[in-house]
Amino acid sequence: MEKPILPGATIGVLGSGQLGRMFAIAARRMGYRVHTFSPDSDTPTGQVSDLEVAASYDDLDAVREFARGVSVVTFEFENVPAPTAAAASEEAPVRPAGSALHTTQHRLREKAFLTAAGLPVTPYAAVNSLDELLAALEVQGYPAILKSADFGYDGKGQFRINSPECTDAAWAAVGPSPAVLESFVDFDREVSVVAARGVDGSFVHYGVIENDHKNRVLDVSLAPARISAKTAKDAVEIARTVLARLEIVGVLCVEFFVARDGSLLINELAPRPHNSGHLTFDACVTSQFEQQLRAVCGLPLGSTELLCPAAMANLLGDLWDGGEPDWAAACASPSVKLHLYGKLAARPGRKMGHLTALGKNAEENVRQARIALAGYVGSANENRTRI
Ligand code: AMP
Repeated sequence: MEKPILPGATIGVLGSGQLGRMFAIAARRMGYRVHTFSPDSDTPTGQVSDLEVAASYDDLDAVREFARGVSVVTFEFENVPAPTAAAASEEAPVRPAGSALHTTQHRLREKAFLTAAGLPVTPYAAVNSLDELLAALEVQGYPAILKSADFGYDGKGQFRINSPECTDAAWAAVGPSPAVLESFVDFDREVSVVAARGVDGSFVHYGVIENDHKNRVLDVSLAPARISAKTAKDAVEIARTVLARLEIVGVLCVEFFVARDGSLLINELAPRPHNSGHLTFDACVTSQFEQQLRAVCGLPLGSTELLCPAAMANLLGDLWDGGEPDWAAACASPSVKLHLYGKLAARPGRKMGHLTALGKNAEENVRQARIALAGYVGSANENRTRI
């Protein structure tokens, strides 16, 4: 068995956003050093790292030099180009491996992998031209969602097609690169399973988290999810299969649609800590970020026990429209925790931070998170979500 990478060692993170920041905080708390690599400076991750390298992902010499300075390389977003991951792996282990990135950074490859593994995905068709789109719509019907096959997240590169009249506009928006046409799922709710797999194949999961999206971006998450024990068990078993088949060493999130009969369809995979798992920072024995650290360092995985029900609300840049938010109001409830990512500019839709409400009662947590958010934006905005 390989020797674990112990505290005192340096971990390299490709990417420099909030996921890397929370990972770096967890790593530094355990006595590791953190280096981060991305094209930007003064980044959310860089601000809490020992070293921030600002270089292009295409600068493979810089990538190799970065990897030479660390004991293991991990990443905080899945769109790290494959050659970058390959160059890093010449100098240090990359965990999860570049092959898992390759599969999950392209919707068609990801769906083909899931289908081959016998796992349930939303009905879809590969589309490479307007004619193929029209043919796929004939089969799938309306409404449907056209998604670019690569580099999509948070609903970017997507177009909902409600009727034949929208088809040209959809193709103009998403084509001409390869795309995926998905049937529109009339789901009961959306859920996710955040899970981790160790170097030795050990597996842990955080149960099922319930997610509510607004404008295709995550708005509120709630743990535990309000679903049947059978659906929860099925979701965890699917996640176990995905992590094993992809040979993940690290954290991966499976996002699902729950149909009205309780059956599950996989929406997508994220081979890293996930926004829906942010509540684990405050609510679980081991956060998803510490879990990623333990996994990539070859340490034993930590307990995922949920110490108390929790709800998380994202703070998007739109909240800055009326000027600097009211920080004191956001902290008024003693059981609501404020997280800010240190981003220098607030833009609409940009994830600037989140609030986590903790308490025995799940519904009350959502209410508390909303109240904190309402105070935060200075308006009585309690009914913003469906949850
Ligand atoms: P994605 O970026 O693919 O995760 O999509 C973002 C969000 O858009 C999802 O979390 C859903 O709320 C919604 N969405 C995406 N695909 C579908 C679909 N096929 N049917 C219904 N809603 C969808």
